[in-house]
Amino acid sequence: MPVESEGPIPAASPVIGEAEIEAAVRVLRSGRVVQGPEVAAFEEEFSEVVAGRHCVAVNSGTSALHLALMALGIGPGDEVIVPSFTFAASANAVRLVGAEPVFVDIEPGSFCVEPDAVAAAIGPKTAAIMPVHLYGHPAAMDRIGPLAEQHGLAIVEDAAQAHGASLGGVAAGAMGTVGCFSFYPTKNMHALEGGMITTADAETARTLRLLRNQGMEQRYANEIVGANMRLTDVAAAIGRVQLTQLDGWTEQRRSNAAFLDAKITAAVTPPVADDARHVYHQYTVRVQEREAVQEYLNERQIGNAVYYPTPVHRLLPYLKDGSPDPRWDLPETERAAAEVLSLPVHPSLSEDQLARVADAVNGAAS
Ligand SMILES: *Cc1c(COP(=O)(O)O)cnc(C)c1O
Repeated sequence: MPVESEGPIPAASPVIGEAEIEAAVRVLRSGRVVQGPEVAAFEEEFSEVVAGRHCVAVNSGTSALHLALMALGIGPGDEVIVPSFTFAASANAVRLVGAEPVFVDIEPGSFCVEPDAVAAAIGPKTAAIMPVHLYGHPAAMDRIGPLAEQHGLAIVEDAAQAHGASLGGVAAGAMGTVGCFSFYPTKNMHALEGGMITTADAETARTLRLLRNQGMEQRYANEIVGANMRLTDVAAAIGRVQLTQLDGWTEQRRSNAAFLDAKITAAVTPPVADDARHVYHQYTVRVQEREAVQEYLNERQIGNAVYYPTPVHRLLPYLKDGSPDPRWDLPETERAAAEVLSLPVHPSLSEDQLARVADAVNGAAS
């Protein structure tokens, strides 16, 4: 039996290879470690992922969302439409600028915001819509885009899980007013920590550059109040190495997903919308007896995880008088939170390991 037929299969496997280490060491030896030429080159190179849009690198995906909302002038008194079925960072960014999230339900297939629910949530205080391309599946931007246009709203795409995803051939991060990516280690590519903001608008890009660096373009000539959300040149050098691998890794994720789609019979495999290119940040199935399935997988050392067990509107900071706000009626969100299970799909998996994952899911049900 090949060695791979045994042993643990991790849920994620961030790459820190020799090339990443050499890139980091090269920058460290140069003595120039803060935001500089590596960041500029990373931005230039990443713009190819987002149809040539302006790119502004920052120190995390959360910072990207936070600065994007700031640059759009969103703040107290404004509402931003956001899914509750997401990582808390999406809604946290809204709160960090003093605005209020308005939670909407999801489509059961894509796990992304449901466009009719978005339309119904638009009100006089709505300033922006923040679709999340969850698990690497693009949100229904073909319907959300026209809605935003009709109501004069900005779109902030949370593309933290969607490097290289697209809908109708248009890349995630190139569909909204602003796009936000994360380079956290478990994402489809990383820079240890980091983020990227993308926009077609040169003025917005300039504002973002000011906001990430104390409001300065020229040193000590501060134009506005800004933060320090700069990416280091060490991180950018690692991100540049990872970016050269992104296409190949994405193809591997997609072919791993196709393998699992074909082999898994005992769970609902992830549907893909017409015209959507799913990049499988997560490969997420639905199961009924989730705890039993998890126990079965854990016994066989097969990595698995629930993203996300608690919808954001049920998390402490978003409660009203200790309970979820009765305004939020989100049945598909609740159902997804109870049923989803993410399985290993990362590019380092062998076919043997993928077969073990599928067999275990099927075996758990029998
Ligand atoms: C990872 C993630 C973020 C935040 O990115 P960080 O780099 O961890 O700050 C935001 N939104 C979603 C959907 C994410 O998965």
